[in-house]
Amino acid sequence: MNDAFAEEQAIDWTRDWTRGGDQLMYQHCLACRQVWYFRRGFCPACGQAEPAASVCIGAGTVQACTQVERAPNDEFRALLPYCIVLVDLDEGFRAMGHGAPGLVIGDRVRCEVRTLAGKPLPYFEAAAG
Ligand SMILES: [Zn+2]
Repeated sequence: MNDAFAEEQAIDWTRDWTRGGDQLMYQHCLACRQVWYFRRGFCPACGQAEPAASVCIGAGTVQACTQVERAPNDEFRALLPYCIVLVDLDEGFRAMGHGAPGLVIGDRVRCEVRTLAGKPLPYFEAAAG
């Protein structure tokens, strides 16, 4: 077992919201510094295996807002109308999530994982201060 493999094994992916945790996690390449969201086994830019992973602080800037008026199912219909945002996180990747009402492009936001429609989902609200 080499050191890179040992490091990969130490990453606790159960902290990620997609695994039921309360954090956004991302990966980065130790060879070319590419940063990306959603877990992969290799770098999408250069193919390097065993990428590193980190927990995102959750601070970012809104890049797009869409108000949803028609929900995909009954669980989300109960939330209508709601806002979906695209956010550029400070670590250098873009994520989609639910947004607080009234957010506009350029707003500084912070992320927390909330249970919405029975599912843990990233939720962005205006950053304090
Ligand atoms: Zn790379």
